[in-house]
Amino acid sequence: MNQGYEMASDRLRNASFHLAGLVLGGVNVIGGALLTLYVLILKADSGWIDYLIPIVMQIVGYGTLWLRRTNVKDEIKLRLYSLNYVMIPLHLYSFLNDAADPFWALTFLYVTLAFALQNRMLVLTSSIASFVGLILIMVLSSVETITVVDREDHLLRLILFAIFVAYVIWGLKVGKEKEALLYDYMNRAENTAYEDPQLAMPNQLDFNLYVDYQLQKTELIIAKIEINDYQAMCDVLGHQKCDALLHVFKERVIESLTDAAHVAKGEGGQFLVAFKADETEQTAQRLAVLPETLSGMYILQSFDYILSVSIGVAKSALDGRHSDELMRNAQFALNHARSLGMNQLIYCTPELKRSSLKTIQLSDGLHRANLDEEFHLVYQPQLNLRSNQMSGVEALVRWEHPDLGNVPPGVFIEVAEKNGFIVTLGTWILRKACAEVQVLNDSFTHPLRLAVNVSVIQVEQPDFVGTVLAALEETGMSPDLLEIELTERAFLNHDEANLKKIRTLQSHGIQVAIDDFGTGYSSFDVLKKVQVDKIKVPREFVDYVDENIDNQHILETILSMASRFGVTCLAEGIERKEENDFLVRHGGEEVQGYYYSRPVTLDDVRRQLVALKA
Ligand code: C2E
Ligand code: CA
Repeated sequence: MNQGYEMASDRLRNASFHLAGLVLGGVNVIGGALLTLYVLILKADSGWIDYLIPIVMQIVGYGTLWLRRTNVKDEIKLRLYSLNYVMIPLHLYSFLNDAADPFWALTFLYVTLAFALQNRMLVLTSSIASFVGLILIMVLSSVETITVVDREDHLLRLILFAIFVAYVIWGLKVGKEKEALLYDYMNRAENTAYEDPQLAMPNQLDFNLYVDYQLQKTELIIAKIEINDYQAMCDVLGHQKCDALLHVFKERVIESLTDAAHVAKGEGGQFLVAFKADETEQTAQRLAVLPETLSGMYILQSFDYILSVSIGVAKSALDGRHSDELMRNAQFALNHARSLGMNQLIYCTPELKRSSLKTIQLSDGLHRANLDEEFHLVYQPQLNLRSNQMSGVEALVRWEHPDLGNVPPGVFIEVAEKNGFIVTLGTWILRKACAEVQVLNDSFTHPLRLAVNVSVIQVEQPDFVGTVLAALEETGMSPDLLEIELTERAFLNHDEANLKKIRTLQSHGIQVAIDDFGTGYSSFDVLKKVQVDKIKVPREFVDYVDENIDNQHILETILSMASRFGVTCLAEGIERKEENDFLVRHGGEEVQGYYYSRPVTLDDVRRQLVALKA
């Protein structure tokens, strides 16, 4: 039941009772005064009984008004206000006795007020009392008294009065029904706010309230359980099947936990669990088996699906005394669990918090950054072993964060990919590199090829091809001097659109290299899909290749495969002469590494070129 709305409606009702009490009190005071005057002036043969009613009316009226200003409990006040209704038969008595029309009107006013108060019981009791009083008076009064006014006249008024009361009761009934509908609506609106409508279970809002409430009394352990790739799952299954699967998943979550655990639905494919931390050991055991119990095959009526989960856990004793903080820390743990692969359960740790906050700081810093002020490019020369000439340069971005100083691209590129900033940054890098290298090339007869790292997120942009071509056009760089370096992720199975864009770029003469060749799952697959121009062998396969037999086998295999496919092979990260010599001996074509040059400014590249020529 909706407590908030119930209280609001009670307050409204009490306020209307107060108001009605005030009005009734006022009417009794004024009515009593008028009646006194009437008796005094117009009734020559009045006895003490004629003053009784106006006096009672005034007492009740003043009493009601006085009552308002006291601090008598509201509940009692309301009961006392309703004493005003008892006055109705008295008015009727007067009305009968003297056929005074104003009292007729007054009677109607009272019943109407009862109607306004929406209290059926009051209308009924006052009406019944009125009827009984009326009939008693009619029966018991002497014929002389009663015939002051015509008997038929009374009868007609009685009938009218009965019709009016019936109408009031009907009106109240309709009113009540409408009120019930409104309550029902408000209850449901409230429930929707606190309940997940799809799974009929508490939602995140409810969970936060629960956590904050419990944290005042006890320690909690909370877990955020996430179905991996939930959105992709929904896309594959369609929404109906996805909902059905969520229901079964919910059941599994609830079955796997104790009754003491509070389970709620989080955003998307997330479920939230709160345990009281009294039985920490048992809770830890229960949590530990969750990845296994919740992942795997789900068999439903018309389909089955294999899913995996990631779980992040936070403890109130270590990670915060407020739902916001706890949820945030559980989310940090969940993010880490997700990055580790399938079915991982991770507890939040101080290091995790630190690194997550750093990521947030970096993400924020990227969005605020002034590109031209904080970013610049350095270039690492690439050498052709056969001609012993510098054949090209790889552009590598550098970021000077105003507070954190130099942040390595290995750290911030990942953040930029996650927050989408890589699109803006990538375009800036492309244009800047083309412009700078074009200036350099203008002063040499043998132009350098420019290699630019491009993230898969950039490739996924609808205007990716247009952006690359525009950068070339703006800077005047020839397309066959540009090489884009892509990791295998850009060539993954489901990205047919990406492949199309890559082929379009190639059709303009732009070259394509696969970065970190051999470190993904699908290196050979990529070679089948796109006629790449170059493969780049990462440092890990070059490292001590002269001594490391495994690396020798890998490098020899890649080199011979490259020559069979007619693809240029560039070995990265050459640091020692022995590594370089190995490559020369085994027919390596291009190299890049600290042995020749670290990434340097373009002025340094120019100096190296001049030195090579000399
Ligand atoms: P990567 O594309 O594999 O770049 C090569 C990295 O190895 C560079 O690190 C380079 O400085 C380093 N390196 C080159 N030769 C040697 C060597 O002999 N020994 C050692 N130990 N390291 C060597 P850097 O500049 O820190 O870049 C790291 C990664 O950041 C890059 O790996 C690339 O994935 C990414 N990155 C850098 N610049 C860009 C960019 O402009 N756009 C994009 N999308 N990613 C970039
Ligand atoms: Ca690269």
